[in-house]
Amino acid sequence: MRSTTLGTTGLTISRIGFGAIPIQRLGDNDAVAVVKRCLELGVTYLDTANAYTTSEARIGRALQGWSKRVVLSTKTQSRTAEGVAAHLEQSLKAMRVDTIDLYQLHNVSTFADLEEVLAPGGPYDVVKKAMGEGRVKHVGITSHQIDVARESVKTGRFETVMYPLNFIVHEPGEELLALAEQHEVGFIAMKPFAGGMIDNASLAIKYLLQYANVVPIPGIERIAEIEEVVRIAEGPWELTVDERAEIERIRSETGHRFCRRCDYCQPCTAGIPISVALAFTTMVRRMPRETVVTGWIADAQEKAAGCTSCGDCEERCPYNLPIREMLSENVDNYRRLKEEWQTSHRG
Ligand code: SF4
Ligand code: SF4
Repeated sequence: MRSTTLGTTGLTISRIGFGAIPIQRLGDNDAVAVVKRCLELGVTYLDTANAYTTSEARIGRALQGWSKRVVLSTKTQSRTAEGVAAHLEQSLKAMRVDTIDLYQLHNVSTFADLEEVLAPGGPYDVVKKAMGEGRVKHVGITSHQIDVARESVKTGRFETVMYPLNFIVHEPGEELLALAEQHEVGFIAMKPFAGGMIDNASLAIKYLLQYANVVPIPGIERIAEIEEVVRIAEGPWELTVDERAEIERIRSETGHRFCRRCDYCQPCTAGIPISVALAFTTMVRRMPRETVVTGWIADAQEKAAGCTSCGDCEERCPYNLPIREMLSENVDNYRRLKEEWQTSHRG
């Protein structure tokens, strides 16, 4: 496996990282087997989060007895000093390590969030203190919102930024990448498969590897998936003329039904978190069934069911998405899955 250096952190990592969201869906032993296979194949960058339920503990288990160097990256979505300190302790314990290589402030997607994480004595300062104590080596940020991500990079306080980048949603990520390079901030690409919209792994990975300073972290659920991704990463990356044409074809086919999570459609007159509600299909593919039919994901669908069809959001969406129709499809899908889940739990 080829390697790269993450921004100016000095961390040398495999050219492709491991995204640890999907292993939550597996049983313990299967999840550990997937992580171990990644390590055997030379993947040395593992990215998880406090929010990914069992993921950190499974990584911790997989690392037992593994003596080669691995770069561990995790995140907290807490916005309080106490919360971040508690999450950091949990992560260290779950992964059974004394140091986390990269600790990221997770999903900082509004300017109020950014202000909160950077407030004196707040989340960022807690991470810096942990760095002084040797429990964290580097600090990064993750965001889904381009304006906030851009501002975060400009602050000069983060060593890495994680942002969605794939060949379907590429313009904001490419713009952010240029800024990150200018500020010497490492760029980690989340959603290399556009949340499951791209099913051609070769195109998705080769596309991202064209960018020397991007580290893609595909979410991996099965051993066969990481074997395929590693095979692609070890081969020639150059996209052929036919492959470029295929990328264009997929782009134009999916473009008018794909939410970029830019939130320009807000505010919704009925208080619906539109981009979260539209991500339902992606979440169904990646999350345990119980998680998508209960809690915050279900809340978004319950709110979406209250859409009044006023159409204001569609006037604001720069991609002209048929938001009302898409919300309605997601709500139907949610209700069907919820009913199935309830039936299986009754029996
Ligand atoms: S059409 Fe529905 S989702 Fe869009 S702004 Fe109106 S209530 Fe909100
Ligand atoms: S529906 Fe349109 S405006 Fe709203 S988040 Fe998605 S892409 Fe952006």
